Amino acid sequence: MKNIGNNISLRLCGLCSSASRLHIRLVLKLSIFVVLLSLCSSTIAQSNNYLFNDSHFHLTNYIQEGVDIHDFLKTMGDKVGRVALFGIPLQQQWSYRVDGDRAPTYYLNSDAPLYYYSFTDAWIATQYKSLTKEEQARFDPMITGFNPTDMYAADHIRRVLKAFPGVFTGIGEFSIHKEFVSAKVSGEVASLDDKALDRLIDFAAEAGLVILLHCDVDAPFPKPNAEPAYAGQIKALFKRHPQATIIWAHIGVGRIVRPVKDQAAIVNDIIGDPDLKNIYFDISWDEVAKYVVATPESTKHAADIVNRYPDRFLFGTDEVAPPNQEKYLKVYNQYEPFWKLLTPEASEKVRKKNYERIFDEARRKVRSWEAANVK
Ligand SMILES: [Zn+2]
Repeated sequence: MKNIGNNISLRLCGLCSSASRLHIRLVLKLSIFVVLLSLCSSTIAQSNNYLFNDSHFHLTNYIQEGVDIHDFLKTMGDKVGRVALFGIPLQQQWSYRVDGDRAPTYYLNSDAPLYYYSFTDAWIATQYKSLTKEEQARFDPMITGFNPTDMYAADHIRRVLKAFPGVFTGIGEFSIHKEFVSAKVSGEVASLDDKALDRLIDFAAEAGLVILLHCDVDAPFPKPNAEPAYAGQIKALFKRHPQATIIWAHIGVGRIVRPVKDQAAIVNDIIGDPDLKNIYFDISWDEVAKYVVATPESTKHAADIVNRYPDRFLFGTDEVAPPNQEKYLKVYNQYEPFWKLLTPEASEKVRKKNYERIFDEARRKVRSWEAANVK
């Protein structure tokens, strides 16, 4: 390599008069400028051409295993711009007494309990910190490893911000009522009426952290014609926290908690309330997409609401450690009939712009809280 370099410079010196050397220098400068310009424009092109930002993504699963973040970046490729990044706060215990050698990997695989696994936050922070600055800009890590029934949950969140300044943008996805999961968690069952939940949301609002909350709107097998079990409590929770930015994951729908017939009324009620301008909805999860695209009528119904209130909905995948891009884009593709019914403005906002607005704002606020509070 050294010889080649010498040869080139010798040949240049042999060829050039001082005037043509000046010319070469100008040409070199110009080409560097052109290369830089094309690099910039390719970055811009990439950010304009991706399909979506993902407001709901799990890097790890219920036994805290997943994909390496560098591999996941390759999976995102030029299809996905930014990702709200978290693990899963609950660990499925492998109880030898219960399951013997049959190691469970999912909460439905075992009768053994789940427990809060706080190390997930250190894991996510470490994965994020292994990236370059440019790569980091594509992620918004979220704190999830707290027990929302514990008055000390807020202190855990504060401690994570202090241990990993410059990393986190929000908290969640954490769950209060989740079919099959809530009852399996060791210790007290979470509740929307818990002071511990109010305390942690107050802290998130103070620090500027965006909140991604999973709470089913109803119990799995409700009595016919009964009010949705948690609709009233969740609205009251939202009302108690006007300063917090809250994304209600899956609009409260679950695998078997179907969109209750007055789901649209619940959403309209929240959107129409001037005190609840801080509440957003994510439409992540293949189970939600399944309900939305079930019939042409259900698709149109959902698209009508989103077209009417395009600032309030975010797309997310809710994928858990996807092994390849095809699997990762599955939910996005599942929504194809729904995307077709959105106005161009609504589509752009739901897929990209609402994410950018909400998470950019949270990033800015959390960094300024850290500047004032982390020594
Ligand atoms: Zn999720």
